[in-house]
Amino acid sequence: MNKLLCPTCGERLVKAGEYLYRCEKCSEEYISIDGVISHVYMTPVNLSQSIALDTLLLWIKKRLGVPEETYFKADITSSVLMLLPYWLVIMEGKADYSGLSRDAEFYGIKGISLLEGLKPAYRYMRRRYRETSGQVERVVSYAMPATSREEFGELDVSREVFINEVLRNVRIPSEMRIYFDRERYKQMNTIIVDVDISPEEARKRAVEEARRRVLSVIGRSCEDISELDISIDVKQILLIYIPIWIFKYEIRMRGKKREYLGIVDASIGRVLYTTYPVGIRYRLAFIIAGAVHVLIGLGIAYLLKAPPYTVLGLGLSTVGIPLLIRGFMRGRGEEE
Ligand SMILES: [Zn+2]
Repeated sequence: MNKLLCPTCGERLVKAGEYLYRCEKCSEEYISIDGVISHVYMTPVNLSQSIALDTLLLWIKKRLGVPEETYFKADITSSVLMLLPYWLVIMEGKADYSGLSRDAEFYGIKGISLLEGLKPAYRYMRRRYRETSGQVERVVSYAMPATSREEFGELDVSREVFINEVLRNVRIPSEMRIYFDRERYKQMNTIIVDVDISPEEARKRAVEEARRRVLSVIGRSCEDISELDISIDVKQILLIYIPIWIFKYEIRMRGKKREYLGIVDASIGRVLYTTYPVGIRYRLAFIIAGAVHVLIGLGIAYLLKAPPYTVLGLGLSTVGIPLLIRGFMRGRGEEE
């Protein structure tokens, strides 16, 4: 039924997934969007399993409150390489606008400011509006996960963690792309996540995002837009797989064994998400500080029953609660 031909060798492409096509002859994969066929890409796996693990443990070692021995005591219980699909939409946004911009005018010199390099200091300021118009041109690229899959079976990575920490935390490099080679990674026992979000959906969301970004650029110089002519031109839609290493590791401390999770980008070595042990002394410090805040706060609120003190006391107690939570929780984090 489909008559798509391989751009490399001319062979007929076969369907290889919901949105994917494959050339049996050169074993490469393609997507077809509006009749345009383009390669499926991935970023290369630059970190072997052991280097990724080392990257993770060294990163954890530098977190506050992590016991020294963590690095040596970590036992890997499972590890897997996973390829996550992303849509990358590259667009050109253009806008002509006119409207009002707000200026601040200063007047009434009261002296010279020594702090700001002898600039005059003014007594008054007044806002003025003036007509403004202009043009904005921006290349906007927008990436979003091409999968809505939220749970990964045996890996036991929770939905919340996956959606909020891992999927959103992945950075799509603008360079560093190679052709995706499914056969090779199948042999390496890699989990290749299925694409189940259509390129049309990606395009729709990308255009909305590009519009939002162009408007925010205009917003910096024009406060009240009266006329706007905006166009978002989609230049390219790419499908890129990003490899990540997922580790489960155990640490035995004071006779107790606990399991932790660590996820590292296999291309650039970024720690996407991890949980780790926090030393008892560090945690106690938070628990004590939290308890002190709560108790003193409640004490103030109870003893001095006048409204300002009640507010102060309750406020102080509220500050204590996150400290307590921090003290009772295991460490978790991601690279900024
Ligand atoms: Zn081919």
